[in-house]
Amino acid sequence: YQPQLDLRGRQIVGVEALLRWRRANGSYIAPGEFIPIAEQSTLIITLSQWLINQICRQILIWDHIKLPPLRVAFNVAARHFRHAQILATLHESVGRYAIDPARLCIELTEDALLDDAAHARTILEEIKRIGLSISIDDFGAGYSSLSHLRSYPIDELKIDQRFIAELTTDPGSRAIAASVIAIGNTFGLRVVAEGVETAVQLAILSEHDCGIVQGYHLANPMSANALADWIRYRQEGPA
Ligand code: C2E
Ligand code: CA
Ligand code: CA
Repeated sequence: YQPQLDLRGRQIVGVEALLRWRRANGSYIAPGEFIPIAEQSTLIITLSQWLINQICRQILIWDHIKLPPLRVAFNVAARHFRHAQILATLHESVGRYAIDPARLCIELTEDALLDDAAHARTILEEIKRIGLSISIDDFGAGYSSLSHLRSYPIDELKIDQRFIAELTTDPGSRAIAASVIAIGNTFGLRVVAEGVETAVQLAILSEHDCGIVQGYHLANPMSANALADWIRYRQEGPA
């Protein structure tokens, strides 16, 4: 789970769930290696079901130990998004764990919205009806149009981290990041900059009035227990 912070107040507002596969020897396999393989079969569906249930369970545990009520974002592969199973899983998990669905945010990449726009809209509307918020991941790198922001029920834009990486070196990337922030703010959407690695990047994002930041400069992805410690340490300081 990687913290997402409100840029102004530096309060944690949410986390993004990022999968890790632990080998028997304790080392980890990155999702970039196993997700594309899982996507080639129905394994991706089983994996996503497991993930969503795991997140709901984790939310109950964090609530039980009185952590602030964070929003948990999770990634859904475009291939699984188009599968009817995703809606059933969301309904079922939210019901089974009696989670406030507003605590969940689904991250989709632009390609999930492209082919068969009508079908995509139907699924998005159903996800909204269940009560989740919807984020467009890696925004700015794909082909979605501005009219998507108007016609789809979207709550959040995540600026593609390539543009954040190039904020100080490429005026074009900086212009794209600034534009995405301005567009998001104009449409009343949350805007998240991810991959923030330096104080200078943070200052530029602040200058452009970006709402939420995520990246190694703020916090690395960490286990659920480490996240609880991280939040308490920030609230209370060293024991
Ligand atoms: P993503 O959704 O764009 O996730 C952001 C990636 O950036 C994560 O890599 C994260 O660990 C990394 N990151 C965070 N802060 C920084 C930073 O400051 N600098 C840099 N350079 N990178 C940073 P990770 O965890 O290896 O995940 C890679 C991709 O794998 C994700 O990209 C996402 O597309 C996919 N993925 C991860 N978990 C899941 C999952 O549960 N389901 C699906 N379908 N895909 C997942
Ligand atoms: Ca993501
Ligand atoms: Ca991303």
